[in-house]
Amino acid sequence: MTSIPFTDLQAQYRSIQAAVETGIRRVLDHGHYILGPEVAELERRLAAFVGSRHAIACSSGTDALLVALMALGVKRGDVVLTTPFTFFATAEVIALLDAIPVFVDVEQGSFNMDPGALERAIEAVRLADRSVYPLPRAVDVAGRKTAGAIAVDLFGLPADYESLSAVCRNSGIFLVEDAAQSFGAQFRGRKACSFGEMAATSFFPAKPLGCYGDGGMVFTESDRLADLVRSLVVHGKGTDKYDNLRIGLNGRLDTLQAAILLAKFAVFEQEAAERQKRAETYTRLLRQHCGTNVLTPEVPAGLVSIWAQYTIRLRDHSNLALQQQMQRTGIPTAIYYPRPLHLQTAFGYLGYREGDLPVAEQLSREVLSLPFSPYIQDDQQEAVIRALAEALAATPQRTATCP
Ligand SMILES: *Cc1c(COP(=O)(O)O)cnc(C)c1O
Repeated sequence: MTSIPFTDLQAQYRSIQAAVETGIRRVLDHGHYILGPEVAELERRLAAFVGSRHAIACSSGTDALLVALMALGVKRGDVVLTTPFTFFATAEVIALLDAIPVFVDVEQGSFNMDPGALERAIEAVRLADRSVYPLPRAVDVAGRKTAGAIAVDLFGLPADYESLSAVCRNSGIFLVEDAAQSFGAQFRGRKACSFGEMAATSFFPAKPLGCYGDGGMVFTESDRLADLVRSLVVHGKGTDKYDNLRIGLNGRLDTLQAAILLAKFAVFEQEAAERQKRAETYTRLLRQHCGTNVLTPEVPAGLVSIWAQYTIRLRDHSNLALQQQMQRTGIPTAIYYPRPLHLQTAFGYLGYREGDLPVAEQLSREVLSLPFSPYIQDDQQEAVIRALAEALAATPQRTATCP
């Protein structure tokens, strides 16, 4: 059996090779390696696609989140709320600015921030009262300003922006959309990357729109915030980079990566349609062959996922044990994420404990992401589901009702 790649970037390259190489050669010919015309063109095209007034290219999704928080004026000691069930970078940027991450649990079905929990967490911070919602034990939030919240569109499914925006608006705090995994997704007719005061996406190679290195983008409707971000990504520049108005960073996207992204964006809609079909195939096969042992991903009515990952939940089996069993038959899977952020060593200084955010903790033991890309074939999907059904039969069930 030929091996099945977890994300088939090579198949994509084979299909767009000529366009990528033409784009790269054009950059090498004109020589504007930094902020060349491809960067501005990419910004124009993605802003139009998303339906956002401004798009500013950045050096990574992490830097996009960081400059968004800087532009929004996050200061040392401010509280910024986010989810514990995400990639580390979402909360890392809060801590980098010496602000205090406060974690808000996610919903079972969507894996995204629970708006009711967000409301309670804001209230708990305001009252500095852990009985209202679990707060950090080792960092005192009494008297701290709650600046904003970062919601994440996990695995390509938008969070509940109707409710989250209302909660943030009512509390007078900003909302940032971490759309690193959701470029191309939709929430009730609006594109991902258009929610909150600012949104950040990532062009890490394995993301729905990925480059061949690191890259990211910030989106906003605000002229003021867009100007700030353009300054922040070039060392806080004013009229030029030798006129420095504020402390910033070197956070630009390379022209070469922009050229690669333009070639990939040309086939993005086609790939997005293929992602939908491939996800439907997995769901159908899973219902046929794996029954109620496996929960398939839920997409609420009115939402469109871009399927950055196809992630199942295992009701009665340990995801680690299943993963090892499938690896024996050569099927790669991934566990996103094996440890929620409030239990990560790096956030130990906050003083969270196991049990504080039970949904995220439970999901970390249940989730399993299957090999997926717009280029995966029917026979490959069938082989994955066959291996999964066999692994389920060969793996002992988790003992029921462990506390
Ligand atoms: C990938 C990712 C990031 C970071 O993006 P990079 O481009 O790798 O810096 C941030 N948040 C989430 C949810 C991600 O998946």
